[in-house]
Amino acid sequence: MSTRDSFLPFALPEIGEEEIAEVVDALRSGWVTTGPKVRKFEEAFTAFLGDSSLQSIAINSATAGLHLALEALGIGPGDEVITTTHTFTATAEVVRYLGADVRLVDVDPATMCICPRAFEAAITPNTRCVIPVHYAGRAADMDEILAIAKPRGIKVVEDAAHALPTTYKGKTIGTLDTDATVFSFYANKTITTGEGGMLVTRDPALANRARVMRLHGISRDAFDRFTAKTPSWYYEIVAPGFKYNLTDIAGALGLHQLKRAKPFQERRAEIAAAYDAAFADLPVIRPPAPLAGDVHAWHLYVLRLDDKTEITRDAMIELLFAEGIGCSVHYIPLHLHPYWQERYQLRAEDFPHSQKAYERMFSLPIYTRMTDADVQRVVTAVRRALGD
Ligand SMILES: *Cc1c(COP(=O)(O)O)cnc(C)c1O
Repeated sequence: MSTRDSFLPFALPEIGEEEIAEVVDALRSGWVTTGPKVRKFEEAFTAFLGDSSLQSIAINSATAGLHLALEALGIGPGDEVITTTHTFTATAEVVRYLGADVRLVDVDPATMCICPRAFEAAITPNTRCVIPVHYAGRAADMDEILAIAKPRGIKVVEDAAHALPTTYKGKTIGTLDTDATVFSFYANKTITTGEGGMLVTRDPALANRARVMRLHGISRDAFDRFTAKTPSWYYEIVAPGFKYNLTDIAGALGLHQLKRAKPFQERRAEIAAAYDAAFADLPVIRPPAPLAGDVHAWHLYVLRLDDKTEITRDAMIELLFAEGIGCSVHYIPLHLHPYWQERYQLRAEDFPHSQKAYERMFSLPIYTRMTDADVQRVVTAVRRALGD
């Protein structure tokens, strides 16, 4: 197909007839907000992770899930939470919602996940929590992070927005020995409910608090209220909670998307392997492979121009756009955004790995609706842009 005939978007969701039928079923049922489909989705999610000691709590975004997890852990003014500069602002903004402060640290230049040494160096007596991000869908160095955090009583909340399904040393992300893990079902994530997320924890107190705070601080959610034997009109407000519940319309999507999470991952891994093979001889840094035997969710496929390449990242993206290929950059580091920079007086020199990677990185399309011809088209365009 000629490059002018069609634009290959950077990302597209794959929604099938089963999802559509389930959404229609929710609409016809008369129950469109949180109810039986969300309950089923939560149960299916715990079953998917394969550990019945976990509780899955559906929310309307991963941002909401991160906020609820930190709130339930009691994070507040005077506390510090450490995360990486190389992430989406949601990871850090939730800390500010609670009046606590963010300590941004640099990444490991190979994985773009939080550098354990940088994490350790940023710890102060006020450090209460660390939020590792499983960047692109490859697990962060969790053994190192836990070895630093646990003895100091620092809580660990995983930002797993990219990491469904991902494994770390054979364990599925969501089942590790951390305080909570948060997944995203935003439109461009590995499975989608349009907007949505899942907070997963093994801590019953955290789960109870998050369930209450997810819906106005009501002591029982709507599903319980309208089905339990206690009077249907009765509820108690125990805190000024939030409005973070997932709708059954979204839950309907989630039920079927979750069934496809593994086949979706396989297709994305296939595309990543095709890219890896096609770019092996180019002056680029390819994304790091997962540890041997581990699953990489391949939410993103991020290429970096190496030092010898003369073309700039911006020119590279323009050339790809001119060929009808959508690209993106993950991420403009937080230390370059006015809010974060001004709030904490951040300087690019303090984040050399993130800064250098940012200047040379671009993300290629990687999603299940791409055909082999689409993949080939991206390969050809990248090779051509690099003078092949
Ligand atoms: C997408 C994303 C989020 C936020 O997810 P939402 O569901 O849109 O709130 C948080 N962290 C990272 C790393 C993300 O990519």
